[in-house]
Amino acid sequence: MFGTRRIAVLAQAGLALFLTGAALGCAPEERPPNVLLVTVDTLRADYLGSYGFPANTSPNVDRLAQQGVLFERAIAASTLTAPSHASIMTSRYVREHSVGHGNGSTRLSDETTLAMLFAAADYDTAAFVGNVNLKRASGLARGFLTYDDELPIPEGERKEAFERTADLTSERALAWLGVRRERPFFLWVHYQDPHGPYTPPSPYDREIHLSPGADEAPLPMLEKHGGPNGVPAYQVIEDISRPSHYRNRYAGEIRYFDHWLGRLLAAVEETDANETIILFTSDHGESMGEEDYFFSHGYATTPNLSHVPFVLKAPGLKPERKSDVVHHVDIVPTLLDLAGLQVPDGMSGIAIGQHLGPGRFLPDRRVYSDTGNEISAYTGDKFMRLRTRGRLGDFKKGDIRTYDWTDGGNWQIAARDIDDAVSSELKRYADETKALQRIDEPMNHETIQHLRALGYVE
Ligand SMILES: [Zn+2]
Repeated sequence: MFGTRRIAVLAQAGLALFLTGAALGCAPEERPPNVLLVTVDTLRADYLGSYGFPANTSPNVDRLAQQGVLFERAIAASTLTAPSHASIMTSRYVREHSVGHGNGSTRLSDETTLAMLFAAADYDTAAFVGNVNLKRASGLARGFLTYDDELPIPEGERKEAFERTADLTSERALAWLGVRRERPFFLWVHYQDPHGPYTPPSPYDREIHLSPGADEAPLPMLEKHGGPNGVPAYQVIEDISRPSHYRNRYAGEIRYFDHWLGRLLAAVEETDANETIILFTSDHGESMGEEDYFFSHGYATTPNLSHVPFVLKAPGLKPERKSDVVHHVDIVPTLLDLAGLQVPDGMSGIAIGQHLGPGRFLPDRRVYSDTGNEISAYTGDKFMRLRTRGRLGDFKKGDIRTYDWTDGGNWQIAARDIDDAVSSELKRYADETKALQRIDEPMNHETIQHLRALGYVE
């Protein structure tokens, strides 16, 4: 029943015992459901119609949200691409996996991934990604029988950051979906488009028009790729200095990716008459001027960066909106559980499908967003932000701030005293750090070859 490739995957995962679970017991007519995971890079929840955005950026996400369960308060594991995706795929917080807060320099090593678990249950597994930090060397490819990380386009100013746009990624994923298969599938599609620079193709570059603030001033251009009070170098679009113009283009990128998401969802529905489990989220948000940072991420864990969309649609789940806090670490147990597979012990997240329905709530808990030098602990009504100085976990009480959520994923500094219980939990979380696993052959090497082939470097 198992081909040699899957046996290799099983051996790698050490998962032989796992096969006594639901998958082997299924008669052919009880085939487990297909599973689609969509992650979008750099997508703030509050730029989607279903999360309250005033312009029409996301008709297809919104339709999915109407058919499924929308979580209003979902938190990203990190505000960087590789750390968040490593948490999405392992149900481990950033400090519990070997990618840690590294982004392109570290990789998953011995952690069991969602793809390995699905492959062990005889799923056909495939991934189509669009960000250089998700390339095979990141360790995220383990468990995927198909891992398409061909990135043909150098990002504007940072030529070493290759990427792939939604049209190209979708065409590959659609071709894969078009192949008839007897086994159920686990498909992960990652869309890169909202990540800067904001250069959606026409007509999406002119489609969204947000009104500028009355006192909107032009922004200076920064020489560095990050920092406050200006447009980071990699984001600069010639002749554009007004923040609202950048925001319109960011919204246009969302509208563009959403168009292709619509095509993908239509193909999945055609394949499977609506019985696929679908989870939609993003890896992190983006700053649009909060605390004087514009058009960047990864430097903090505030809600504009860590509040992500999270929509779950599955057979038997009734449409609803939930205000309970959910997190990237919930994705592995949730998808396994809904697919009827055994959830391994030791996950940091929970299977949220078991807590849905009118009048039901998820367990009260704290979840963490982490960039290495900053950690936030979120609950349903507030969050605490901890800034470390120097060594990870080495911080003083004065480095902790408490915030309250307000509408639309924003926040305000809270007047109340620091909660000692949360503060000691944050310290405990910060102290338990797994060793990082460096990438042996840096992705840069491959990148330089690629740049040379394209004539960008001598
Ligand atoms: Zn990202």
